[in-house]
Amino acid sequence: MSVSTQRAGSGVAATDASGPVDTPVLWIDGEFVPVGAPCLPATTHALHYGSGVFEGIRSYATDDGGTAVFRLPEHLERMQRGARMLGIDLDVAHVSEVVLRVLRRNRHRDAYIRPLAWLGVGSMGLSVAALSRHLMVATMTPGLHLDGANIQLGVSGWRRNPATSLPPLKLCGGYVNSLLAKREVAARGFEEALFVDAAGRVVECTGANVFMVQDGRIVAVEHPDALAGITRETLLQLTGARSRAVMLDELLDADEVFVCGTAAEVAPVARLEDRDYAAGKVGREVASLYRRVVRGNEPGCRHWLTHA
Ligand code: PMP
Repeated sequence: MSVSTQRAGSGVAATDASGPVDTPVLWIDGEFVPVGAPCLPATTHALHYGSGVFEGIRSYATDDGGTAVFRLPEHLERMQRGARMLGIDLDVAHVSEVVLRVLRRNRHRDAYIRPLAWLGVGSMGLSVAALSRHLMVATMTPGLHLDGANIQLGVSGWRRNPATSLPPLKLCGGYVNSLLAKREVAARGFEEALFVDAAGRVVECTGANVFMVQDGRIVAVEHPDALAGITRETLLQLTGARSRAVMLDELLDADEVFVCGTAAEVAPVARLEDRDYAAGKVGREVASLYRRVVRGNEPGCRHWLTHA
């Protein structure tokens, strides 16, 4: 079964906009089911091998009373690239429609949106042809990753998955690498891990890209093993920052460091190992510009919003 041919579901969008529903649902293979309902066989391939691909997307309540998803096509196109690697045929227009339906059904406005496509059952082997294909979309209230500002970063001893071994896409199994790094630095009291390669070049965090400010100039950290973040690309367009390779020493010398991602938005770094950064003016300005953009308050950027 191709995920592009599944039914779009039978739920009726709620019209009463009085806040999220009491029992939120998620959409799975054409049906709305309560979040948390047991619905997967324990032999699911993705559970054993990480053979799935997901996205992290956000929607925002806009000041005109609406709800808008930020850069939905870009997120789903990245998901489609990951899905192709796994032999999953993902129809962007279909998933986009499902995302909007789940948001409306749950009456979520400020939300974190999680679509996931995965390989199901049919074999325990590593050839994927015979396996069932699945898709789910969940929405939830945000606050998952680096919620709040002033992040404390620890340098991980783990290396980021090299792009020559695993493409920097949102493939489920790849996130074990992030989880190990996060656990490792958490044991030293840090809330987020920074990956650095064997040559001392900065890669990214476990779920966010890195920027620095030096002498008032904004630099986006570039590395082939890092995810091509949609927030990073948004900030490059908004600020005209330069994208280039950055060594850890340079980051430690920078005036300001901030990280960015869909869940993290733009979050200033207060500390990197034992280096403290003063409260950053540039990072704060970029964070506030980003907040205006995602909520539709920057007229030149409204083409990035998909209205739910
Ligand atoms: N790097 C990694 C490893 C991530 O998981 C994320 C979150 N998707 C990011 C960077 C930031 O990407 P985006 O801005 O597209 O959310």
